[in-house]
Amino acid sequence: MAPEGGAAISRALVEQIVRDVVTKRLGSPDGHGPSKLVVHPSARHMHVCREHLDVLFGPGHELTPERELYQEGNFAAAETVTLIGPRSRVIPNLRILGPLRQKSQIELAFTDAIALGLDNVPVRLSGDTGGTPGAYVMGPKGMVELHEGVIRAAMHVHMNPAEAEYYGVKQGDVMKLRVGGDAGVVFDRVHVRIDPASRLNVHMDTDEANACALHLARDIELISEKRGER
Ligand SMILES: [Zn+2]
Repeated sequence: MAPEGGAAISRALVEQIVRDVVTKRLGSPDGHGPSKLVVHPSARHMHVCREHLDVLFGPGHELTPERELYQEGNFAAAETVTLIGPRSRVIPNLRILGPLRQKSQIELAFTDAIALGLDNVPVRLSGDTGGTPGAYVMGPKGMVELHEGVIRAAMHVHMNPAEAEYYGVKQGDVMKLRVGGDAGVVFDRVHVRIDPASRLNVHMDTDEANACALHLARDIELISEKRGER
């Protein structure tokens, strides 16, 4: 039997102990456990503004929530639109996600964008659509020309302030996401988005999810550079 001396306490064990302590501290007073890291693939979708919803579905139309999403208040709507690219290529049944936004925006995986004839869609954080490509959007009641707003959403992690403290990160920081398994991948640029209402949750697009076989992934770890240096 190995002696339980100083050398036997590995770095991994120390890290585990620290993690346990911090995890316990994170647990809320009413006995709920720490937040579990949840990673979701986000299929292509559209966020729509009031003005565009009026054109696409008729004045005063309200979105019909069909499925609640993991982030509270967000939902997949029953409404879909047809997306028309620059060479008249089409993506049908593009799902609208609610609630309404200030600005319309379309989030595509790179494969979707290429299919649509857009081979240089920039990677952007949601809302940062300046200078991005546009497209035509067709709904049952009308058509909208978006002059910009088609993006590949940058991979990001939603978290609340306590979770940000746990990872030692702040708004706008970039973390790594290690996805284990036979097609293991480390993603280097996971943007931190902090909001008190958020649940710990990584959003990646369908290309990224396919690349790491997310549905088969055995272990997934969110890594803060700063924390690793301690
Ligand atoms: Zn998100």
